[in-house]
Amino acid sequence: MIIVLKPHATPEIVEHVLERIEALGLSPHLSQGVSCTIIGVIGDEDKLQVQPLQAIPGVEKVVPILKPFKLASREFHAEDSVFTIKGIKVGGGHLAVIAGPCAIESEDQLFEVAARVSRAGANILRGGAFKPRTSPYSFQGMGVEGLRLLKSAGEQFGMPVVTEVMDPRQVEVVERYADILQIGARNMQNFDLLKECGRTRIPVLLKRGLSATVKDTLMSAEYVLSEGNRQVILCERGIRTFEDSTRNTLDLSVIPNIQGQSHLPIIADPSHATGRPDLIPAMARAAIAAGADGIHIEVHGCPEKALSDGPQALVPDQFDRLMDEIRPLAELMGRTIDTCKKEATACAPC
Ligand code: PEP
Ligand code: MN
Repeated sequence: MIIVLKPHATPEIVEHVLERIEALGLSPHLSQGVSCTIIGVIGDEDKLQVQPLQAIPGVEKVVPILKPFKLASREFHAEDSVFTIKGIKVGGGHLAVIAGPCAIESEDQLFEVAARVSRAGANILRGGAFKPRTSPYSFQGMGVEGLRLLKSAGEQFGMPVVTEVMDPRQVEVVERYADILQIGARNMQNFDLLKECGRTRIPVLLKRGLSATVKDTLMSAEYVLSEGNRQVILCERGIRTFEDSTRNTLDLSVIPNIQGQSHLPIIADPSHATGRPDLIPAMARAAIAAGADGIHIEVHGCPEKALSDGPQALVPDQFDRLMDEIRPLAELMGRTIDTCKKEATACAPC
């Protein structure tokens, strides 16, 4: 439910309404814009229905939010959410360019890719330390040692870093090293993990599940938001369909679809969506043209030696070309690509 206050509502009126809501055991969320003040109310709406809140002087109207997701909805927060992560903005006209290897494999491998993607203009570094693999016999990631390398690469190149957390018990350690917690597609409905990430105060990159609807995705975001963490970035990474010539099917319509219903930024991951380097650049461009708030690209110095997702990795030269292609497109779409603070230094090729 949303309580819209009259334009001249005084701080005393705002305070009074907040107190009334809290007295009912509900949690108010105040959002003060330049021209209007609204108070979102989360909790058992039945309690509010019988309260004549509309009768309080200064209250313009009381509007129910009919959607099952509340904090994630546009009704609750009309403006685009913008998050600042170590100086890099995501959302509201700022294009996140997240790039790096699927998995962190060694210091040399990570630093070589980090140097190249940072020099090409990526503004967030990715790398998996805990890997969700289909087979228990596949490389599972370097764990905490990988996190340590990622943090130090981020510091060296002045980039915020994102890495996946697979289990609620890992959140504490991953939070110590990462600037953004990634919740992978397979865990999108791991509700305990969502809640644990919601208790942190660092941004969450929430990837759409393999067969999740838009509503499922926004309900998962709601889990994080309802724990008090307001920084959720959504990610379309392809869904399962009957098509088997690509790894998944990139659902580009989900970008404007979600942007119409939610204030949260949404980025696209053409790497996992297509699984094919020959398709990734076109799909990255298409995602930006569709209004995406960012792209997420896997890059590896030597894909043939990669321990995870090698077949879909772009090599650094391909990533350079992709950046050259998306810069004018981003400008056309009114998006700026924030740049990292530090100058990247060249690294030897593998
Ligand atoms: C990844 O980002 O490496 C990954 C495993 O992604 P997803 O959860 O989208 O498969
Ligand atoms: Mn991957």
